[in-house]
Amino acid sequence: METLFAAVDLGGTKIAAALGNAAGQLLHTETVPTPPGAGPEAILSTIANLVDSLSSRAGQRPVALGIGVPGLIDLRTGQVNFVPNLPTQWRGVPAGPFLERRLQMPVRLLNDARCATLGELLYGHGPQYPSFVMFTLGTGIGGGIVIDGRLRLGPLSAAGEIGHSTVLPNGPICGCGNPGCLEAISSGPAIARAAGYPDTESAASAARSGDPRAQQAFRDAAFYLGIAAANLVTALHPDALLFSGGMSELVDLLLMPVRAAVNERVRMFPADGVAVRRAGAGPNAGLLGALALNVAPDKIAL
Ligand SMILES: [Zn+2]
Repeated sequence: METLFAAVDLGGTKIAAALGNAAGQLLHTETVPTPPGAGPEAILSTIANLVDSLSSRAGQRPVALGIGVPGLIDLRTGQVNFVPNLPTQWRGVPAGPFLERRLQMPVRLLNDARCATLGELLYGHGPQYPSFVMFTLGTGIGGGIVIDGRLRLGPLSAAGEIGHSTVLPNGPICGCGNPGCLEAISSGPAIARAAGYPDTESAASAARSGDPRAQQAFRDAAFYLGIAAANLVTALHPDALLFSGGMSELVDLLLMPVRAAVNERVRMFPADGVAVRRAGAGPNAGLLGALALNVAPDKIAL
């Protein structure tokens, strides 16, 4: 019988779960709404029930569970330290040990953007690029850094929070408390607000039809994204900058200006060989990353 791994992508509105194999094929999937207003215990129980339900469908238990969580998670302890987009506080929740007791299998949890980076490393464009930086562009701006084939996590699994690099001194206050973070200027909600539209989709179509305020909002967002990207290229000289998440589809409004900014601002060495492109793992990047947590833990540098 083929070895199966369980993968969960925990989001503010839905929880996606899958059983997949080491090749990155998701064989059984199920998605449920995130229980509204629920605390950690109810959400973790929902996750455990999803794994049970998928196991019955597959007629076999997975060997381990990986979970991508939208917050700060210590991979080594399985402790959730901060989840800004879920309704209740998760500070210091021992989610890993709780689920290991409940499911009787090893459980690994990691920040969702770092998970997506690991998924990209295994199942997306990663094999082409030994070193790359991943930007996840959406409600927030997350990231992950791969150096010489391994995901760099740092001592608290928090390395790669590129959305929280300062790009505008004394800029708007970010959710993290720092003024002028990239996320406070170039995230989806920040762009929509600056453009005067309820969401990025309508702001993008307005910009493309010539609305000057929407065009300016995207120019500003791309300008600061370009500064962050160029600084990362100068610091790491990666093979690629990869972009995932809903807003990464806005190639004309965001990715092309970032390409131009990297070429213009990196002066110390030629940067035109650094690829700037959309990630390759596709819409299941979150689940593939959660799968990769247990398929290839050796690709994580702790
Ligand atoms: Zn911040």
